[in-house]
Amino acid sequence: MARASQDSQDIMSLSQEEMISWMLERGLPGYRGTQLFEALWRRRVQDYHEISSWPKQLRESMASSLPLPRLEAATVHRGRDGTIKVLARLHDGQHIETVVLPHDYGYSVCVSTQVGCNMGCAFCASGLLKRTRNLTAGEILDQVRLANDLIPDENGAISRVDLMGIGEPLDNYDNVVQFIKVAHHPLGFHLGYRHFTVSTSGLVPAIYRLAQEEIPITLAVSLHAPTDELRRQLMPIDKAYPIDPLIEACKHYFEKTGRRVSFEYALLAGVNDSDENARQLTDLLSGYSCHVNLIPWNPVPEHPFQPSSKKRVEAFQRIVQEHGVSCTIRKEMGQDIEAACGQLRRREEELLSP
Ligand code: SAH
Ligand code: SF4
Repeated sequence: MARASQDSQDIMSLSQEEMISWMLERGLPGYRGTQLFEALWRRRVQDYHEISSWPKQLRESMASSLPLPRLEAATVHRGRDGTIKVLARLHDGQHIETVVLPHDYGYSVCVSTQVGCNMGCAFCASGLLKRTRNLTAGEILDQVRLANDLIPDENGAISRVDLMGIGEPLDNYDNVVQFIKVAHHPLGFHLGYRHFTVSTSGLVPAIYRLAQEEIPITLAVSLHAPTDELRRQLMPIDKAYPIDPLIEACKHYFEKTGRRVSFEYALLAGVNDSDENARQLTDLLSGYSCHVNLIPWNPVPEHPFQPSSKKRVEAFQRIVQEHGVSCTIRKEMGQDIEAACGQLRRREEELLSP
């Protein structure tokens, strides 16, 4: 699929070089492109009028011919643990979620990559609203800008980005890669590639493609089950890309990039959390340098599951670790503000719609 930034109207999705060309094509000096790029992402201006290095006439003509489609925060929820969850309005009136998380090292942001998701996983709130469209690179970048604007500490800045919000990032491949490259740029957010994590439900061909990009980001793969029989019931994508070819693709990713792959595993009581499931998981992964992230499942009322008890999660972790596979339990954050992806949007979309 063509990248949306190839549309000359989609100015926020352009790289620095593309902004220079954009200006030159219109008979303007190329350096105006660099100034715009820096103003958008490093200085985070709201509109062209704040670009003081530009002549007034240029600011006015840009504002009238090509208004900046900045995201607007429809609602902002601040959790007791410092988590900030934003429902952001896109220029066409649709909504996505962006979550800012505080850590001891600073702040990370979890961004959405699509409006809704088509993958239909049985435990996820995002999939309840089918994908209506891909986000542009500019719309993903603007979530990082918005997150930076909302950080309470004046000297704080987003230093890590997780592509783990609503949507399947590798189903919006070109825009996601453009987003990462622009956010990495020194005049953009200047984030090291190692500070990005892309989470995927397991689109095997896209994992091979990503391994060739020379952007050594962390890959997280949503596994959630150790056998195809079980995974298929939870994640329809397993029918197209079963576990064995998926693990092969992850091994290839590690060999090409040197980045250890993380496997995400949400524990659902009585479904995928038995001792046997833990042993099956280690059979699959032992001897391969990777990491398992156990996720306490965030209940979604529309789905029939129950989260595993804390005791069960810990027992599961012990078995995985005893078999030599590195395994941690993800800290639950922002529970008081419904941090599970897709939940806030679903609830508020109902409230906000006329
Ligand atoms: N589509 C991508 C990225 C977005 S989902 C993917 O599936 O990987 C980010 C992570 O949250 C995935 O591991 C997903 O399986 C998990 N997830 C989805 N719904 C959840 C829920 N209700 N509780 C806990 N984790 C959930
Ligand atoms: Fe989509 Fe990921 Fe949710 Fe599956 S878990 S429905 S791929 S967002």
